[in-house]
Amino acid sequence: MNDCPVCRRSMVTFELEGVEIDRCLSCKGTWLDAGELEEIAFRAGVPPAELHRALEEAGKGTSSTRRCPRCGRKLREFPLRSASGEEVLLDKCPKGHGLWFDQGEIYRAVSLFAGEGGHQGSVARFFSDLLKSEIQNRPNEKGESQ
Ligand SMILES: [Zn+2]
Ligand SMILES: [Zn+2]
Repeated sequence: MNDCPVCRRSMVTFELEGVEIDRCLSCKGTWLDAGELEEIAFRAGVPPAELHRALEEAGKGTSSTRRCPRCGRKLREFPLRSASGEEVLLDKCPKGHGLWFDQGEIYRAVSLFAGEGGHQGSVARFFSDLLKSEIQNRPNEKGESQ
């Protein structure tokens, strides 16, 4: 099962700096399997400890009408909150299969944990291909020259 939780269309696998992510080309949302958000944050130059803590402390959340693309269970909507109190509303599988990000939320979520120490630039660079693809409405094809 690999359908978009929002529009139920089949998602495509997209590689973001070596991490395989699932994207919906219709609503441009992104599904990340468990642990992939921390992996992406780490590769974007963000220390993953605070992010990991925020995920652990997020609680159960409230029931969403969206469904997990892995098990079909209803996702739980929850606020992912940074130490500075900013938050982004995400959806997670109650069985821990992963997280759903609406368009732009994956960048926002990682940015919240980039802190003040100059990580914002590296995060923006890391996500530039993904953000471009959101504009172009197609996946980053392998072998495409940059
Ligand atoms: Zn979709
Ligand atoms: Zn699931």
